[in-house]
Amino acid sequence: MTRKIQFETLAIQSTEPQGDESGSVANAIYPSTTFKREADGSYQSGYIYTRDNNPNRQLLEQTLVQLEGGQAAFAFASGMAAISAVLQTLKAGDHVLIPDDAYYSVHAAVKEVFARWGLAHTLVDMTNMGAVEAAIQDTTTLVWLESPSNPLLKISDIRAISKVAHENHALCVVDNTWCTPVLQRPLELGADVVMYSTTKYFGGHSDCLSGALVMGQQAPDELASQLKNIQKLNGAVPSPFDCWLITRGIKTLHLRLMKQVENAKKLAEFLHHNDKIKAVHFPDLAHHPQHDLAQVQMPAGCGAMLSVQVGHNQTEAMAIISHLKLFTTATSLGGIESLVEHRKSVEGDDSLTPDNLIRISVGIEHIDDLIFDWQQALK
Ligand SMILES: *Cc1c(COP(=O)(O)O)cnc(C)c1O
Repeated sequence: MTRKIQFETLAIQSTEPQGDESGSVANAIYPSTTFKREADGSYQSGYIYTRDNNPNRQLLEQTLVQLEGGQAAFAFASGMAAISAVLQTLKAGDHVLIPDDAYYSVHAAVKEVFARWGLAHTLVDMTNMGAVEAAIQDTTTLVWLESPSNPLLKISDIRAISKVAHENHALCVVDNTWCTPVLQRPLELGADVVMYSTTKYFGGHSDCLSGALVMGQQAPDELASQLKNIQKLNGAVPSPFDCWLITRGIKTLHLRLMKQVENAKKLAEFLHHNDKIKAVHFPDLAHHPQHDLAQVQMPAGCGAMLSVQVGHNQTEAMAIISHLKLFTTATSLGGIESLVEHRKSVEGDDSLTPDNLIRISVGIEHIDDLIFDWQQALK
């Protein structure tokens, strides 16, 4: 009888030490940059040099392949390094579609770095299928998706957009950082590649910068070999210790994230019913414009990120932030501690984020304490 093993079990099983003779139950760290060569020129361990590969990186990559149901994975020194690797597979004259509210640095990289190498791009409202179809050009080779979006939590239809991309001979790559495979499975919805800033929920403790790409089963073989080559030649690889931290984080990913999702839902409901709050952006609330799509696309929960609009401007929003005691004011997300951030002032001058928007990354603290903190800050 074959039975599909569940995510929680797979996360433990796939991260167990492999080929370790000590009997160690926890993983070892292999800081070595170089590996022994035999007299006949061969490398018995399969490892040569850590920029090419390393036991800690290999374990992390193999784990990601299993968790995502992909064909190959590549780990990077940051989420942005993973994103840049995808863009570097394109050629001068290619055109990419990017969400109009993509992670801020994605747009900046395309505009400030890749445009000079001949990559064209169009910003699109990915919640509007007509707009997506209209933006596709003959030279479009990549559709970049991020759902939910940052910081307005807009949901785009990964299945429908992957289909449109494929009909136009373009790849569809999904930044799944905010969901992880626990909540959303882009490869099963038709995407070719999934991208992660593993800095966030995978690591989970705000202490390790890293990123990854996972290829779907139907992604072209050539893409995987190109990405492998870029990973090695650009050298933006995570250290063995970073890989070890992310691998360790994966063991508790499901447990942490589901608790964060539960807390986020309760906090969103509380904030939604508070008259000081002008708007709550959270896909699990019934009034969210893509609530129905979110339920289908993220069946296990709509994530642990939300944003609220409060007061009339930046000063009033910042005043509320200053009254919060349990939420640390800092950028980033996905750690076990709750964070808040005035998003617009972090993004830069051309940010379209509303002045009075506060982005919240909900942690694993007790929900009563988190709600009480907002209650006293809003008084
Ligand atoms: C943080 C983040 C990134 C960038 O990842 P880094 O690890 O900071 O380079 C990309 N996309 C999303 C959605 C993120 O939250």
